[in-house]
Amino acid sequence: FPPLPEKAPVGQLRDGSFSPYAGCLKFSQLPLSKKTKDGLAKANYKDMTDIQRASLPHALCGRDILGAAKTGSGKTLAFIIPVLEKLYRARWGPQDGVGCIIMSPTRELAGQLFEVLKSVGKYHGFSAGLLIGGRKDVDTEKEHVNDLNILVCTPGRLLQHMDETPNFNCSELQVLVLDEADRILDVGFKRDLNAIISQLPKQRQTLLFSATQTKSVQDLARLSLKDPEYLGVHEES
Ligand code: ADP
Ligand code: MG
Repeated sequence: FPPLPEKAPVGQLRDGSFSPYAGCLKFSQLPLSKKTKDGLAKANYKDMTDIQRASLPHALCGRDILGAAKTGSGKTLAFIIPVLEKLYRARWGPQDGVGCIIMSPTRELAGQLFEVLKSVGKYHGFSAGLLIGGRKDVDTEKEHVNDLNILVCTPGRLLQHMDETPNFNCSELQVLVLDEADRILDVGFKRDLNAIISQLPKQRQTLLFSATQTKSVQDLARLSLKDPEYLGVHEES
C-alpha cells in the first residue's frame, strides 16, 4: 500500500503527465454539464479548493479515488460533482433506479451533504433520498427506495433496506461514495460497511474521502477501491 505523498502534484497522472484539466482553478474550466455548472454558479461556488483541484480531474475520468484532506477542505463537492456527471453522462432517468449510494457516518452529516446535493444538483432531474435512522417511518421509505436515483444514507439504515426491503435493487449502481470514511469506521460501522460492499456490484466507481489516513481506512480502501488514485492534500492554514 503506497504511502500518501505529502502534497500530491495537482492533476498529475500516473505516467507523470498532467491531466488537461490539471491547471484549472475554477469550476467553470472543467468539462462539466451545463446543469452542474449552473448549479455551482447558483450556489456561488467559483474557485476550487485544493482537494477539489486534485481529485476532480481524476474522478471525472471515472477513476476510483482515495482522497485525504482535513475537515473543512471541501471534500463534499469533490464527490457530488462526479456523481452528478456520471449519472448525467449515463443519461440516468427516473426508471433507472438506484445509480449512486453516498454513505455518511452520522445523520447530521448525511443531512448536510444532502442539502449540498440538492442545491448543486437542482438543475438535474435526479431523484434523491435521505435514508437515515430514526427520522422517518422505514415502512413508507421501503415503498419508495427503489425509485430513487441517489441514496444518501448512514450504513445502518442502508443495510436495513438491503435486509428487509422487498426487491431492493442496486444492481445497476454506478458510483459508491464513502464520505468521512475514518469516522464511519470510528463509530463502529465496519461490519455494516463490509456487509453492504459485499452486496454491491463490483463494476462501479468508488470515491472514498477521509480527513485522516488510518490503518482501518487503508483496509477499507483495499476492500472497496480498484486501482485508485491516492490524493493527499494538506492545505496550509
Ligand atoms: P469537508 O467535507 O472537507 O469537511 P465541506 O465539503 O463540508 O468540507 O466544505 C467546507 C465548507 O467549505 C462548506 O461551507 C462549503 O460550502 C465550503 N466550500 C467547499 N468548496 C468550496 C468552494 N470551492 N468555494 C467556496 N466554498 C467552498
Ligand atoms: Mg465532509
